[in-house]
Amino acid sequence: MLVLKFGGTSVGSAERIKNLAKLTHGNEPKIVVLSAMSGTTNALVNISQTLYEQNSTKASELIDALENKYKIEIQDLYQNPTILEKGKELINYHFHHIRSFVDFPLFTSKEEKIILAQGELLSTAMFHYYLSEIGEKSILLPALNFMRTNKDGEPDLAYIEENIKKELYKYPDSKLFITQGFICRNVNGDIDNLQRGGSDYTACILGAMIDAQEIQIWTDIDGMHNNDPRFVDKTYPISHLSFDEAAELAYFGAKILHPTCILPAQKRNVPVLLKNTMKPEAHGTVISNIEPPEGIRAVAAKDGIYAVTVKSERMLLAYGFLKTIFEIFEKYKTPIDMITTSEVAVSLTIDNPVYLERIVDELKEIAQVEVMKDQTIVAIVGNMSRSETGYGAKIMGAFKDIPLHMISYGGSEHNISVVIDSRYKKKALQAMNKNLFGY
Ligand code: ADP
Ligand code: ASP
Ligand code: MG
Repeated sequence: MLVLKFGGTSVGSAERIKNLAKLTHGNEPKIVVLSAMSGTTNALVNISQTLYEQNSTKASELIDALENKYKIEIQDLYQNPTILEKGKELINYHFHHIRSFVDFPLFTSKEEKIILAQGELLSTAMFHYYLSEIGEKSILLPALNFMRTNKDGEPDLAYIEENIKKELYKYPDSKLFITQGFICRNVNGDIDNLQRGGSDYTACILGAMIDAQEIQIWTDIDGMHNNDPRFVDKTYPISHLSFDEAAELAYFGAKILHPTCILPAQKRNVPVLLKNTMKPEAHGTVISNIEPPEGIRAVAAKDGIYAVTVKSERMLLAYGFLKTIFEIFEKYKTPIDMITTSEVAVSLTIDNPVYLERIVDELKEIAQVEVMKDQTIVAIVGNMSRSETGYGAKIMGAFKDIPLHMISYGGSEHNISVVIDSRYKKKALQAMNKNLFGY
């Protein structure tokens, strides 16, 4: 079995959806995981925002605009009048559901998540109907029947494994399954999601749980590039990455992959292939358990970082001080990304500021605390053996005109990270393209 995931741009128009049928054709059994059409989840986020603000007029305008877009797309998508009629009913149904939240007395994140789920529900049904129009059999599997998170908000892998297998066993003669990326139920059974970009995560979890032969992530670029193409002109695709390298790049901001999607695939050793829907003949990137060659593979940057510096003379020659600091972060379930220390101070970074104020209040009881916001972690990823020389000098050379706030070297042989003010990010990525990759 293969798992193929197609992102927003790959299902972004009637033409693109038709093109998908070519890529999913063939005898090999597969699960096709789809995102919402590009722009839809952002539009649903905006609609939800107006509903939080109880601005019904604006919400209705935005809903009408999105519905019109879908009405136009299905005219291009279906030729068969019966299927076109079914398409119209589908759109009516989902937009009627979205409208039911206008003037909702108390709009909360629970309602927002129901609204956000409509994009993937629409795209998957639209593709399923299109396949029936061209005479290809497919089964539409409702992700809400098997994708679930646990009490910590993490995917409940045991539940997912059991339930996806149950769903597949219902159709022993079927070869083509379609399901929604991104959406799931939470521990209370309410509709939830795996965070923005979560369709990659759905695909990798499913691929791992069914021990797929391969997970293919189809997107709008020919694989993982050596640098962020949104900020740097001359970037190139990397043909092979180890799971460790890909996991680091995804976690530290390479948008092509959801931050944690590599881990389930790595655990079950299922290779992940990154491919371009617009250029299927391009090699793309193969992510597997290969022994990566020595060297720097790529850089990525993660924004929205808070750097917290905790300073106290009590740290000098004392033990247990770091433990006390970590316990405060643990109490507020806030993961720490990077750490650097000196005799009397420790700097840490977090990306989730929800409990930052409370954390700082508690830290202030034991030390002086300084917080810097709008920080970016720049991660340099590759296979950088401790016995080799030159990596530090090369990397630091790229930052010669940029103030550095933290440096983390040596935690792993796959990652060297640097924290800078976000306004220097583009300059840093461009300078590294020159210093590390010669462009
Ligand atoms: P999809 O909608 O298919 O999930 P995304 O927009 O989430 O697509 O991810 C693909 C985009 O990721 C690319 O268009 C590219 O701009 C961006 N990107 C950022 N960093 C990288 C990188 N290192 N390699 C490739 N793409 C990257
Ligand atoms: N549609 C969701 C998003 O835009 C999930 C995804 O595309 O992966 O975040
Ligand atoms: Mg994505």
